[in-house]
Amino acid sequence: MAQPTRQVAILGSTGSIGTSALSVVSGSGGRLRVRALSAHSKFKDLVIQAKEYLPRWVVATDAPAASRFDWKDLPKGTELLVGPQGLEQVVADPEVDVVLAAIVGRAGLESTWAALENKKTVALANKESLVMGGSLVMQLARDRGVQILPVDSEHSAIFQALRAGNPTEVHRLVLTASGGPFRHLNKEQLKQVTVAEALEHPVWDMGPKITVDSATMMNKALEIIEARWLFDVPAPQIQVTIHPQSIVHSLVEFVDGSVIAQMSPPDMRLPIQYALCYPERVAGVAQRIDWSQALNLEFFPAELDRYPALELGYECAQAGGTSGAVLNAANEAAVGAFLAGELHFTEIVLACRSVLTSHNFESHPTLDQLIAIDRWAREEISHWVFA
Ligand code: NAD
Ligand code: MG
Repeated sequence: MAQPTRQVAILGSTGSIGTSALSVVSGSGGRLRVRALSAHSKFKDLVIQAKEYLPRWVVATDAPAASRFDWKDLPKGTELLVGPQGLEQVVADPEVDVVLAAIVGRAGLESTWAALENKKTVALANKESLVMGGSLVMQLARDRGVQILPVDSEHSAIFQALRAGNPTEVHRLVLTASGGPFRHLNKEQLKQVTVAEALEHPVWDMGPKITVDSATMMNKALEIIEARWLFDVPAPQIQVTIHPQSIVHSLVEFVDGSVIAQMSPPDMRLPIQYALCYPERVAGVAQRIDWSQALNLEFFPAELDRYPALELGYECAQAGGTSGAVLNAANEAAVGAFLAGELHFTEIVLACRSVLTSHNFESHPTLDQLIAIDRWAREEISHWVFA
């Protein structure tokens, strides 16, 4: 029997995850339909997407830029909403079955929150919502009785591998990391890393913020925190291994020593599709492993002294409270400063450590307190920036 169509709201549709998600929709044979799209600035791309997918809504979140744009080419049946409150309107649409949270950074928090408030299933790419407010966000999902389905490839892999046993049988989660482009550089060479070099990832083609996060290993630090909240597993039970091929997307080690891995070529369309179609597996557009070729898989220990960002991830996953929001905001501001040529590459993690150490820790913050401390941490980073 044909499955009913699932209506998807793609928040951040012009980004790397957003465009991959549209390719998943195109390959779904009508199983998935686009109900809403959003973009912050690439409005030309947004209009092209709207013409192809004919959504009910498009949201232009940067209101001043949207008012300067000529929207005449938007299709007839598509309504334009302007400003971040437009996101809250579309996630409340009763026709929306699943919200793909693919906005980058802290800007994704309120719409993830609103989607859960409205009892929508959330396919979560925006790891920063969990890094900032993991405890509150997961509690909201439980209160509303809705699921957060991971899109991050590592967390999708763990989510899939966890189906091999019971929660009480889990010994540890093992997150794989490609190690980024600078795995072979020494400390001195790392200091000289340029913006162009940091934006070249050896395996994944992603947005600029997560590409820099991968180079500093902060992405893996954020993923440790994400895993801690998503799977309710304490920090010491989360391990990182360096796996340069990015074929094994992560693993679960059970109490008997069995390790269950999820594998596929590095192609984000697979975890996106898994989340959007869950609990079904369907034939889709993602690449497959070519078993006629030799396949070499390597794993190296992730040494904490070589990757200081990882230590920050463990600390915040352990401490909870306001620490994740501080690390997330400090990192986002520091990456912004690095991309603007105002901070050296190695200073990103140093600055984050300093801001985290000097913050006024609160163990049970409200959402408003998290938003306030996010602002404070960004302000602190400005002291690091050279003129
Ligand atoms: P990207 O920079 O390519 O795209 C970001 C999207 O968010 C764009 O559509 C942009 O218009 C929108 N956006 C930017 N600022 C905004 C704001 N202030 N308000 C509203 N919308 C805004 O980013 P990406 O690489 O697609 O990453 C998106 C999210 O997915 C991030 O949280 C990232 O960590 C996560 N993620 C990405 C990948 C990947 O392969 N790219 C993998 C795993 C997780
Ligand atoms: Mg990831």
